[in-house]
Amino acid sequence: MRLLLLLPQRCVQGLSAVRNTQVKLQLNASVQRCCSTVHGDVRVRFAPSPTGFLHLGGLRTALYNYIFAKKYGGSFILRLEDTDQSRLVPGAAESIEDMLEWAGIPPDESPRHGGSAGPYMQSQRLDLYRQTAQQLVESEHAYYCFCSPQRLDLLKKEALRSGQTPRYDNRCRHLKAQQVQEKLAQSVPHVIRFRLEEGVEPFQDMVFGWNHHEVAQVEGDPVVIKADGFPTYHLANIVDDHHMNISHVLRGSEWLISTSKHLLMYKALGWKPPTFGHLPLLMNKDGTKLSKRQGDIFIQSFQRDGVLPEALLDITTNCGSGFNTNQMGRRIDDLISEFNPSKITTHSALLDLDKLPEFNRIHLQHRIEDEEQCCLLIKDLQGQIHKAYSAEIQDEEVLHEDYIRRVLHLRKGHISFLKELVGPSYSYLWVRPSLSNQQVAALTKEAQHIASLVLKLVSQQGEELSLDQLSKDLKTVAKQTKTTKYREVMKLLRLVLSGLQQGPSVAEMMVSLGPVETSHRFQKLLLPPETS
Ligand code: GLU
Repeated sequence: MRLLLLLPQRCVQGLSAVRNTQVKLQLNASVQRCCSTVHGDVRVRFAPSPTGFLHLGGLRTALYNYIFAKKYGGSFILRLEDTDQSRLVPGAAESIEDMLEWAGIPPDESPRHGGSAGPYMQSQRLDLYRQTAQQLVESEHAYYCFCSPQRLDLLKKEALRSGQTPRYDNRCRHLKAQQVQEKLAQSVPHVIRFRLEEGVEPFQDMVFGWNHHEVAQVEGDPVVIKADGFPTYHLANIVDDHHMNISHVLRGSEWLISTSKHLLMYKALGWKPPTFGHLPLLMNKDGTKLSKRQGDIFIQSFQRDGVLPEALLDITTNCGSGFNTNQMGRRIDDLISEFNPSKITTHSALLDLDKLPEFNRIHLQHRIEDEEQCCLLIKDLQGQIHKAYSAEIQDEEVLHEDYIRRVLHLRKGHISFLKELVGPSYSYLWVRPSLSNQQVAALTKEAQHIASLVLKLVSQQGEELSLDQLSKDLKTVAKQTKTTKYREVMKLLRLVLSGLQQGPSVAEMMVSLGPVETSHRFQKLLLPPETS
């Protein structure tokens, strides 16, 4: 069965010449995907341009490369494609690598860590691109182009005026060798263009199946070395993939349309191309572009907001494909073992970021249950408590790790973010609430009596309070009051413990505060009312 897939323009940023058109890609859906068996040394790369900070789309590409590498015992490489010097964003290169490390998918070879195929920044590999371009010129697969920016501009305007897609008319293809030498001798500004030949061979994409794009029919010959001597993306990208021994190129589907052009270059250079696999677009759940989402999609902002990296990885793989089942709570090792590249589908992955707190809650619970991770959470929380409440803390005991550990274990599964615990609804855990006589009097006239009953049951329980026992005992307390109903008793206890009307169960509050602090808070009720 042959399918015709129409990719709308916004999916094909990789090809400027097809602007305002739709691109027809033929794919053969019945073809067996070529990744059911992966042979040889696996080397994959994530190749972002440091023209911006890492966002969710980039993280997803990096993640699929990482899990592919780890699944097949290969290497994951970070290469920074920084050849467009005018668009570099200061700090972005460093930050991209920081974010991969933070996310728990660190590269095996990278600008920071080096490696045998380095350097890993394209701006440090310029000689290699120039040599390759020279090789292409010598074999007549590329040529010098001396067309001025004004001429190119004019071509573009004319094309647009007549409703056509602008493309270079390949004029300099036909310059005689002597003309070229003369212009070079006169230092006429020039670029090098790759000669696009017709007769592109189809290739089998790991995800999109058989593919074929007769690029010479829609594009003019592309520039491979710019006037400033820097390579364009297309040349640098294939040169590096070749010299870095990349076995599989897994990248966003916006590059699918460029692959035929890349394959022509591989052929011209006599190089064996890697296997290509294009990942479907990542979009908001309503099908709009991710970048259009309200709020930030940069990884740094998720990190700042207390999102756990494993929750972010989990949500990005859950909405997409590549797994036999979709289930929440997978950690990186699960992702690696459950990843099945032949299950990657061609339709867009729809990301529901509203579910992120739910993913975070699950992964926060995992961390709390892991003793080593829990210690890190305790440290983090100690810092946050200090920052939020330092002046108000009456008893330093609340900063003790056992106290915080108890709180974390009681609240796991209820909170999505650690920082919730320093918010107003949990302030009672760190700071004693202040309550007025009027608040107490509004609930009951038996406050002192109830307080002494509670104090008695707390002292009977010893050093560790038990949730089950307390729940039973509190019911008995309510039965020993004369005029106060169970509901009011509980309201009073909650008020005394937290100053709040809502929150965890009264028994849980008592367990988390511990017997000493709980008693301290009830003893206040035994004091004669202040005359204020
Ligand atoms: N530098 C390109 C980008 O920013 C890399 C594309 C590729 O992986 O080939 O997405």
